[in-house]
Amino acid sequence: MMDCGMHMGYNDERRFPDFSYITRNGKLTDHLDCVIITHFHLDHCGALPYMSEMVGFDGPIYMTHPTKAICPILLEDYRKITVERKGETNFFTSDMIKSCMKKTVAVSLHQTVQVDSELEIKPYYAGHVLGAAMFHVKVGSQSVIYTGDYNMTPDRHLGAAWVDKCQPDLLITESTYATTIRDSKRCRERDFLKKVHDSVDKGGKVLIPVFALGRAQELCILLETYWERMNLKVPIYFSLGLTEKANHYYKLFITWTNQKIKNTFVQRNMFEFKHIKAFERIYADNPGPMVVFATPGMLHGGLSLQIFKKWCTSENNMVIMPGYCVAGTIGWKILNGHRKIEFENRQTVEVKMSVQYMSFSAHADAKGIMQLVRQCEPRHVMLVHGEEKKMEFLSKKIRDEFGVKCFMPANGETVTIPILHPIPIDVSLNLLKHDTVSQAAQDSPAPKRSKVIHGALVMRDSALRLMEPRQAMKELGLPEHEIRFTSTLTLEDDGQPTKTADKIYQLIKRHFGRHSIQQSSDGNISLSESVLVKVSGVDDDIEKEILVSWSLQVSLCHLVKLNSMSLVAMSSNNIGSNILSV
Ligand SMILES: [Zn+2]
Repeated sequence: MMDCGMHMGYNDERRFPDFSYITRNGKLTDHLDCVIITHFHLDHCGALPYMSEMVGFDGPIYMTHPTKAICPILLEDYRKITVERKGETNFFTSDMIKSCMKKTVAVSLHQTVQVDSELEIKPYYAGHVLGAAMFHVKVGSQSVIYTGDYNMTPDRHLGAAWVDKCQPDLLITESTYATTIRDSKRCRERDFLKKVHDSVDKGGKVLIPVFALGRAQELCILLETYWERMNLKVPIYFSLGLTEKANHYYKLFITWTNQKIKNTFVQRNMFEFKHIKAFERIYADNPGPMVVFATPGMLHGGLSLQIFKKWCTSENNMVIMPGYCVAGTIGWKILNGHRKIEFENRQTVEVKMSVQYMSFSAHADAKGIMQLVRQCEPRHVMLVHGEEKKMEFLSKKIRDEFGVKCFMPANGETVTIPILHPIPIDVSLNLLKHDTVSQAAQDSPAPKRSKVIHGALVMRDSALRLMEPRQAMKELGLPEHEIRFTSTLTLEDDGQPTKTADKIYQLIKRHFGRHSIQQSSDGNISLSESVLVKVSGVDDDIEKEILVSWSLQVSLCHLVKLNSMSLVAMSSNNIGSNILSV
């Protein structure tokens, strides 16, 4: 199972995955070999304690080291908001988070993990957030790449996603920004800074809901540099405690960040800011302009929602949503033009503040997704984690450009994907040498062209080998059988039978000149050591009897096309029957 996320737009059991798709009454562990978590965002890991502790799953759960470190903190934060503040029941507990995390196995980038005798997984760098990984999942010769969320362009603190040219049977990619070819990064940044600056200039308050780790660091670096350059004095705040936590993890997993951050960290703490100070709840009521970074990112609870409630009724203020919001969240509602928002306590407010959306969330855009497809050369593509209309646009683009099938299944839909099932065959060196040499003698050598070779296919201990028939019979201890076909024709021809034989000899020579043809002193003709033609009759009788006999020495041979390893069985020796038609 790839990822185990929570739907942030629901407050009931619909927020968790519907495990009845996997089994209705059996144990999940009997149906799933393992769970792979790509990164710490709750829409990718939020239902993990529910799955392992409440539904019941005892198998291994794989994630990278940073994800394993940060994931439980976000789960606990979210649990607190849901249970302690909203008073919800039927949710996992702190202890459940702990015992769930005990079942997780941390993996390193490019480390091949053998889950069992058949299943193999390998993580690749995905950018997006600290510790995010794409996974290559392999069983035998079949493989799938699952991207999770990823980013194909490096940002201020992380690098770009990268994957081997591993030609998987299927690439399952997120498609959050399937249509947007986002304007250049610098444009977006300038736009963001201008909006914040204009708003505080007019005395307004700016709220930026963020996730604790990820875009927050990116935007802080950006604002800090701008404030310094423009010599601005308006206070900027960041949710208390989160900076510390973030710093701790960036320091711990410095190898996962980009080179610039790695270099800076040696001299000073990259996330230690001059202009950005820790936020305290009472500041929200302070008069005058300010900028506040607060969690969580989609305004679905916690501090960001509290501040939003206070500030949203004034048109002087502004909220900047720096990323994608899941349907149903307040973030999603205001981005979709809802201006009357109802909160849990039935209190309705009218949103007058300016609502801005800036695509800072580090997902691949259409260009990035195409780039990844080009990079790993999949045989099929599946789009997930996106909106239908946008996916349709992108799937057409993928089909047109790469000529591969592109699927976009709805929730609960089953997709059948045809795959090649190559059967490996060992070819004996002798046979290979013999065939290549004799072919090379005939045609000009063309190393990349596929060649046809003849041999006996032997299956032993469920392994297939192609070898010279004589060798095969020797190994298997089988006596050689010869099957001969004979046919007698009557021909009207004047003169001695040897004269008729001579005529036939010339005819055969003309038609089968490439084969070895011999005529013995008694007039018998042999062709390719297999076909025998005998003419008999009386000198003054016009009717002559012609006996054609041919063997099927190599019996049923198999043609093996080496490039695709597909098998074709056919009878190879049909010279005899051709002679009959001549
Ligand atoms: Zn994410």
